[in-house]
Amino acid sequence: MSIVIKNAEIIGKEGERDVLIDDGEIKRIGQVGEAEKIIDAEGKYLSPGFFNTHTHAAMSLFRGVADDREFWDAWPNIVWPLEENLTEEDVYWGTKLACLEMIKTGTVAFNDMYFFMESALDAVEEMGMKAVLSYGLIDQNDPKKLEQEIEATRKFVDYAEKSELVEPAVGPHSVYTVSEEGLQWSADFADKEDLMIHTHLAETKKEKEDFEEEHEISFTEYLDSFGLLNEKTTVAHCVWLEDKDYELLARQKTAVSHNPSSNMKLGVGKPMDYGAMKNYGVKVTLATDGCVSNNNLDMLEEAKTAALQQKMSGDATLFSADEAYEMLTEKGAEAMRMDSGRIEEGSPADMILVEKDVKATPDHNPKSNLIYSMSGSSVTDVIIDGNIVMKDREVEYEDKIIRNANKRAMDLVSKV
Ligand SMILES: [Zn+2]
Repeated sequence: MSIVIKNAEIIGKEGERDVLIDDGEIKRIGQVGEAEKIIDAEGKYLSPGFFNTHTHAAMSLFRGVADDREFWDAWPNIVWPLEENLTEEDVYWGTKLACLEMIKTGTVAFNDMYFFMESALDAVEEMGMKAVLSYGLIDQNDPKKLEQEIEATRKFVDYAEKSELVEPAVGPHSVYTVSEEGLQWSADFADKEDLMIHTHLAETKKEKEDFEEEHEISFTEYLDSFGLLNEKTTVAHCVWLEDKDYELLARQKTAVSHNPSSNMKLGVGKPMDYGAMKNYGVKVTLATDGCVSNNNLDMLEEAKTAALQQKMSGDATLFSADEAYEMLTEKGAEAMRMDSGRIEEGSPADMILVEKDVKATPDHNPKSNLIYSMSGSSVTDVIIDGNIVMKDREVEYEDKIIRNANKRAMDLVSKV
């Protein structure tokens, strides 16, 4: 369907107000002519949608169950026991709930790692979102378990072949949950199948201390020794790293997914060293992480948190609204290897309209309003791949998703 958006204030393109979308693409900006559908965006910003580079979508079912605890208390004692009873139906509804929340707060694509990923893929496609999905491979040094995990990864990658909106990735969970054999298999399989890689790294101090007891080399040298660091890899957290790690991440063009809310909520001990990463030229993107450790998926809130957290270093210039906006859009898209995140002719139509409400008044600086003043609830319309997935804040089947996800969540919690 062809769509014309009229009278919008296009972020970063002063003077242009109209956009023609057809065939999933931005066809023209400026003089656009007619289309099958006209959207009047008077009083709204038009922006690329947001790209969330590290999530565990179905964990939305566990929102609020393990607050105010550190990772090494919350996960072993609450999250892992809950996940033992998880079924594919749970992951389907949990992912739908997450997609609904992401759409309602302006996210168009996300990079996810979890279990029962076939069900997650079905949910993502039905919601009309874009995603990179990986099965979270965890073998705990058990060769039998590794065989099962390899099978699960292969099965999901085959399943994802038919999808136009979802790209499969390989997801070795972390250096502390995957054996050397598992890490090596992940790197080799990703290389052979030309897949992206998604992993966690250097999130907590305990992870660093445990690692250093067993290894002489650094976290990133270790990952690199398997061939896991390259331009198709995203590493989440990266809090407990050092100069040689930043240098290596930059050299290998690996994307870092920065999760400031999650890091702060789990009390990981210090902020990620964004200043050092910037100096070394590391590709930094933004993410919410899952809903146990955030507790929402609102990328505008995350961007503000990220900027403010870094300014606490004593340098108010360290993380600007412009940098945050670029991470939310173009840089996030690039990390997911999607040629998107821009309002340009020929780009995929992955965009949002945002109501210029009281928080955008006065409108001296639209990017500043978006990052520092507004939140995802000001997003009114979302278009992904040229399809309208939210119109005037309404998403199809919203009530049914909330009802079913809620029931699944209550049942899971009652079982432990
Ligand atoms: Zn994570």
